[in-house]
Amino acid sequence: METPSRWQPLLDALPHAAWVFDCASTTVLAVNGAAARLLATTPQDLCGARADELLQTPEDLAWWQELSGSPGHSEAAALESHITLPGTEPSAERHVLRSIRLMGRDGDAPRCGLVTLVDRTVEHQAEAMREGQLAEARATLEASSDGLLVTDLDGLPRSCNARLAQLFGMPESLREMRDARALASWMHRGVVDSQAWQRRWLALQRAPLACGTQRLRLVSDLAVEWVVRPLWSQGVLQGHVSAFRDITATVDAEQRVTRGSQTDALTGLPNRRRLTHMVADALMAAQALDTGMALLLVDMDHFNHVNDTLGHDRGDQVLVDVARRIESSLGEGDELARVGGDQFALILSGPQGASAAAAEAAARRVLAQVTQPCELEGLQFTLTCSIGVALFPAHGTQADTLISHAEGAMRQAKDSGRATVRVHQGRARVDLRRHMALDHAMRQALVSGRFRLHYQPQIHLADGALVSAEALIRWRDPQQGEISPGQFIPVAEDTGFIIAIGDWVLSQAVRQAALWHARGLSTPVAVNVSALQFQQSQFVERVASVLAVSGLPGSLLELELTESILVRDAEEALVRLQALAKLGVRLAVDDFGTGYSSLAYLKRFPIAKLKIDRSFIRGLPGDESDAAIVRAVLQMAKALGIRVVAEGVETEAQRQFLHELGCDMFQGFLFAPALDSLSFEHRLLAARGLDEAGVDTSSGEGGSQPPRMRLVHG
Ligand code: C2E
Ligand code: CA
Ligand code: CA
Repeated sequence: METPSRWQPLLDALPHAAWVFDCASTTVLAVNGAAARLLATTPQDLCGARADELLQTPEDLAWWQELSGSPGHSEAAALESHITLPGTEPSAERHVLRSIRLMGRDGDAPRCGLVTLVDRTVEHQAEAMREGQLAEARATLEASSDGLLVTDLDGLPRSCNARLAQLFGMPESLREMRDARALASWMHRGVVDSQAWQRRWLALQRAPLACGTQRLRLVSDLAVEWVVRPLWSQGVLQGHVSAFRDITATVDAEQRVTRGSQTDALTGLPNRRRLTHMVADALMAAQALDTGMALLLVDMDHFNHVNDTLGHDRGDQVLVDVARRIESSLGEGDELARVGGDQFALILSGPQGASAAAAEAAARRVLAQVTQPCELEGLQFTLTCSIGVALFPAHGTQADTLISHAEGAMRQAKDSGRATVRVHQGRARVDLRRHMALDHAMRQALVSGRFRLHYQPQIHLADGALVSAEALIRWRDPQQGEISPGQFIPVAEDTGFIIAIGDWVLSQAVRQAALWHARGLSTPVAVNVSALQFQQSQFVERVASVLAVSGLPGSLLELELTESILVRDAEEALVRLQALAKLGVRLAVDDFGTGYSSLAYLKRFPIAKLKIDRSFIRGLPGDESDAAIVRAVLQMAKALGIRVVAEGVETEAQRQFLHELGCDMFQGFLFAPALDSLSFEHRLLAARGLDEAGVDTSSGEGGSQPPRMRLVHG
């Protein structure tokens, strides 16, 4: 029999619960305080207790049995186990790591054993909780209707859910393989724009926090929205979680709407709105393939005769026929759009678009097709068209530039007798030199204060009142004399110097308007704004600050914008126009009719005025198509509550005609050209019936002449 006291110092020195038992009797000989605490009892109660009753798990029982059967029994290795305290709930179980070591061998038979128990209850509970959470997370992941993908910082997949596998059509075997690279490459191949996919992952590696949302089309034709979020653990970035949501239905619906609004109902061809995108896409392709591209603008000659003779329904039939004829002369990859009533645009790619000669030849083929005799309801007739051609890269690298060059060339074809083709005349080398010289001279002119502003009156047609002024820039160069803005503004727009000029014009015009305002001669002043200037991020702030510095009420400033500003990046333009409208500033669309004239944008934007371009006024009242256009613009503007100014009115007949059509205002040499500020002021004073000191001369003894004009704030 062992002496219990022999073991006591050893047991007390152990950091864990421990006792020593006698192998023969399996009774506890000695026990330490930690063991008593673990079993919630006293050392006295434990001493003499049955050791095999203290450890009762099936593994323990098997071991005790073996011990009694074979004296040469081996030691019990460390083992995760648990003990239930007598008279307590199973939940009060203690989880332990127990080991039994046999000691004091006498011959073959061990005499006693040492039991040690490491209390792992707390760790066990934490583990159980973690496992629970993990199971919960896994269940949530699987239950999500989004495809979820967890990736590490290198963009390699760590886990994904079943929905992701389904979206990307992943075979089960691939998911089970848990091969990150195989998974990544499967997904890569499943995306239509795999380059965009790759770029995004590379970008995430470079800037892991620059997460965001992106739309993708999968090769399965599903459209998904891909949202990436950073994955943090204990304050350390671990990787990313990507969620993929199936938005096919939304995207398809959107596309149907856009396609609808970008398709011409009569011919089924893309319409004007689509053209800019088509040209931009063709430009991108041509750039990528290092080839040329040609844009042809086909405008039917005197098509109004067809409508007038056959009626609009028959006219429509003829247009459909014309569209088919043009289509029949297209080469592979060429595209056709109907961009106006009787206007078509053709994009020629490949060899046809590569050179001026090839493009002109293609244009002549179109002309030949169109001029084939027509027959409708027994009436035989021949149609002709005028075609303008612009080439990439010779005539421009931007869609807008090419379209406007093709339009210009088409107008030249019309001017030279119609039924012909004109290729845009690119800028010659000499021009380039002049361009540079002009740019240099402009910069000098701005610093030397050689720019001036003139003001052209705008007149109310109903009562002849002088209502407002348009500020127009003037420049006299010491060597070259007066240079017209028509010459230098396009160069300034090309070189970006227009931003500095525009800023000068804005502050100068506002200063002048504020001066007039202070002297009781309040007149709204209109300022021309170029696209580049309008696109400056600080443009609205700049307008606000110029107004604030001068003290001019926003309502006395008007900004003239071109249609291209409104069409290009319409969302951004809308935000800006709304901010400007908030300042009280009025907005006018300049040169209306020459660009993208679309009802849709006018409805959306806070526009107060339309200025009908001079080119439509010139032919009035005789030219029927000009008259029809002006009538249509007036009708449309009236419906939208927008006022209309006719530009370039030179004759009384034009004024009279516009008045009869119900146009609101006019501007033109008939009343006055742009005047220097002093001359303008004289006209203003005369119009108001005041003398220069502001004394009313319209009535009483001092009155010389009754006023012909009355000032109306409008
Ligand atoms: P715009 O904005 O369409 O200005 C009207 C142009 O028509 C002015 O030419 C004006 O002098 C001219 N005009 C006015 N009434 C008549 C008329 O009865 N008959 C004829 N034939 N012409 C008339 P201007 O001053 O040579 O300006 C040409 C263009 O230069 C302007 O066209 C505008 O686009 C641009 N421009 C002028 N000043 C500025 C400016 O300060 N900033 C910007 N961005 N562009 C400006
Ligand atoms: Ca203008
Ligand atoms: Ca204009």
